[in-house]
Amino acid sequence: SIQRSRSEMLYAEALEHIVGGVNSPSRSFKAVGGGAPVFMKRGSGAHFWDVDGNRYIDYLCAYGPIITGHAHPHITAAIVQAAENGTLYGTPTELEIELARKLKTAIPSMDKVRFVNSGTEAVMTTIRVARAYTKRSKIIKFAGCYHGHSDLVLVAAGSGPSTLGIPDSAGVPKSIASEVITVPFNDLASLQQALDHWGKDIAAVMVEPIVGNFGMVMPEPGFLEGLCKMTREAGALVIYDEVISAFRFHYGSAQTYAAFPDKQAIEPDLTALGKIIGGGLPIGAYGGRKEVMAQVAPLGPAYQAGTMAGNPASISAGIACLEVLQTPGVYERMEALTIQLADALQQSANHYGIPLTINRIRGSFSAHFCDHPVTNYEEAQDTDGEQFAQFFRLMLDQGICLAPSKYEAWFLTTAHTEQDIIETITAADNSFKTMRAGQ
Ligand code: PMP
Repeated sequence: SIQRSRSEMLYAEALEHIVGGVNSPSRSFKAVGGGAPVFMKRGSGAHFWDVDGNRYIDYLCAYGPIITGHAHPHITAAIVQAAENGTLYGTPTELEIELARKLKTAIPSMDKVRFVNSGTEAVMTTIRVARAYTKRSKIIKFAGCYHGHSDLVLVAAGSGPSTLGIPDSAGVPKSIASEVITVPFNDLASLQQALDHWGKDIAAVMVEPIVGNFGMVMPEPGFLEGLCKMTREAGALVIYDEVISAFRFHYGSAQTYAAFPDKQAIEPDLTALGKIIGGGLPIGAYGGRKEVMAQVAPLGPAYQAGTMAGNPASISAGIACLEVLQTPGVYERMEALTIQLADALQQSANHYGIPLTINRIRGSFSAHFCDHPVTNYEEAQDTDGEQFAQFFRLMLDQGICLAPSKYEAWFLTTAHTEQDIIETITAADNSFKTMRAGQ
């Protein structure tokens, strides 16, 4: 087992000063048996190094934004240049127009765009805009989809489509949770029931069109089409949370993804973005139909602002990242390596008699320890968290870094090489073998 004494020391120190020792709960190792998370120091390409000098192959990829690998020279140069020109002006810049134009070209349902600082802000504001536009207050969301940490979307399922939500976090008032209805993903009948029950009160139906938060889960054929149709019939807006999915699977959004042939039938009114579009710096964005976006201040009555919004460093990194992703063949290459990895993991797990369900979507996949398909949150919950925790630690000790949660995906980058994949396959095979031996 590799030495991580400096991480352990720093974690003890961090606990003295930073609540829980981490600046996002997802970084803690609570879900994988506790202890010190790894403190990273430096990254380059598909690798990063911790404070003890250990090297890891990165499949966490910062929960999604790092799609071109760490310290990609084109992005680094863009950030350096932005820093040299001054980090913030509080005025518009030409750069913002360029990124907005790139997003609009790739995501045709966005007539108008607004930049914010995080995915949370983007989602939060789409809800406000939808409420302003429809003059209604409730939203419907899907169980297990994560939409950031604003009050409204930190609400868990009630016991059925006609039941209002209960707060998922302390500090979210019941009155706010009562504005949210949660239904199962891939379940149009439940959505219809909820719309029938609450229709005139529903401002929007919010969905991750391709789910990234309880594994990678594709909508079943017809799900998005049905969702859009039913939502419109109820007079509500469709909001796509594409904070993870945009630019992850191809150069564009779910709406333009080849898996969905009828683009018109799945067009959202509003889209929330984040992660990749900032090239690894803080960013969020939302956009949509012109009439709907006309609600936003200074044009309309829905207020949203931001001191840091559209800051030149984030915008420059975002433009540079999208430029890298426009290089022909990058998604195909990531996909080819991911197929190689996912297939080998599956074979190896099968060989050692360890149930594993892999959902792969182009250059990313989830690997759930279970012997049933994972198409919704309930099925993702019904997987073996202890086996995952053991696998996670065995992989980490062989220099393979995954997200410390059984719900998170593995992400590849344009920087991963076949050598990385081969090393990872060997590590996984060793891990499954050890797990088998311990049974
Ligand atoms: N929406 C989705 C689909 C996400 O995955 C996330 C973050 N994991 C968010 C919103 C929130 O984004 P942020 O962490 O940038 O606030």
